[in-house]
Amino acid sequence: HHHVLYATAEGVEAVVDTGHFHPEAILWQRLDAYQQAGGSQLLAHVRSGKISIDEVLQALEASGLRGLGGAGFPTFKKWQAVRQAAGPRYCVINADEGEPGTFKDRYYLERAPHQFLEGALISAWAIEAEALYIYLRDEYPGLHRVLHEAIAELEQSGIVAPGFIIMRRGAGAYICGEESALIESLEGKPGKPRHRPPYVAQQGLLGRPTLVNNVETVYWIPAIWHKGAEWFAGHGRNGRRGLRSFSVSGRVNKPGVYLAPAGITLRELIEEYAGGMAEGHTLVAYLPGGASGGILPASKADVPLDFDTLQAHGSFIGSAAIIVLSEQDNLQAVATNLLAFFADESCGQCTPCRVGSEKMLSLLEQPTWDVQALTRLAQVMQDASICGLGQAAPNPVLGLLKDFRPALAQQQIIVSDAAEGSAP
Ligand code: SF4
Repeated sequence: HHHVLYATAEGVEAVVDTGHFHPEAILWQRLDAYQQAGGSQLLAHVRSGKISIDEVLQALEASGLRGLGGAGFPTFKKWQAVRQAAGPRYCVINADEGEPGTFKDRYYLERAPHQFLEGALISAWAIEAEALYIYLRDEYPGLHRVLHEAIAELEQSGIVAPGFIIMRRGAGAYICGEESALIESLEGKPGKPRHRPPYVAQQGLLGRPTLVNNVETVYWIPAIWHKGAEWFAGHGRNGRRGLRSFSVSGRVNKPGVYLAPAGITLRELIEEYAGGMAEGHTLVAYLPGGASGGILPASKADVPLDFDTLQAHGSFIGSAAIIVLSEQDNLQAVATNLLAFFADESCGQCTPCRVGSEKMLSLLEQPTWDVQALTRLAQVMQDASICGLGQAAPNPVLGLLKDFRPALAQQQIIVSDAAEGSAP
């Protein structure tokens, strides 16, 4: 789902599905247009001392802003943790948007790179960072150019000292979106997640305290300041607070990025934002958090979508990549596709994930599934993998075994529940 956004000072005006990314076709908001619309002011005021760090932290706390890369950790707390560690410190922006089905960071970077850069510079200022690194996935070559040009505008205007912002390109590894693997990669090493503790807030890049924030998280900072914390926190449904950017794809009429209240349900998201189900398709299942967040049946289309709300269903929302499936999608193919992805992207560092994901894939490729073997293997992978990739890899399979038994039985993928024996 490729969207080119024609941005003006007032905001996005058009979304065009081009099927291909043409950097020259993008009219992103240049620095002068951003400043005419009130941009860069917050950065100037925090630097001059007119606005203090405590005021910024209070605004972030009141807004309820959380890490929108998928972890959902309160942003002000993360900043405080890094500030408490002795300097020198680094600030790193995670722009390695690789969760399947997620394209929201790209949406904002294509539209308004300067709003993002102002937020990133404020987060660097907040921890008195020596340098600001932006780790951009290699699959966004057009954005690489956009950001280079936008950073050059900031350097030419004297807003940023040349060399303070350092762009780094990923090399196509999904695991480098995991923050400690990203830092390893920044250091020039293979992207393998670290054991924790120590946490990167204490010992991150080159062993120094490091603040790692997602693109969208920092993107909202200037907007939260200008519109007020209550503007952000005031949205929300079903008892949740804030705004979330849902990347919606699959069997809907209008796939795209939708800024919607936290806690909205899938049914509301499809009807109110994504133009309803695509013609000829009936909702059967959905992935609420890309490849990692499990799979839920249509009967759970009224569960509020937000951090922490899906745990009871064995799922999580992560980066809010919503993939909508219909009766025309083959559930076994969905499962094998996802496990093939994890097996391919496993960094290979630990056995439960490296061997387990390959083994699970081969079990799923059988004409009928060995439910007991799948269940036991899933347990080992969840319990013993070092990082979230191996821990989350069995989620789609567990979701299918939990909520899709009749459909799988009908397709003869699960022959008999008796074969399950005494699965743990
Ligand atoms: Fe690497 Fe997988 Fe182990 Fe994570 S769980 S450290 S990706 S092998």
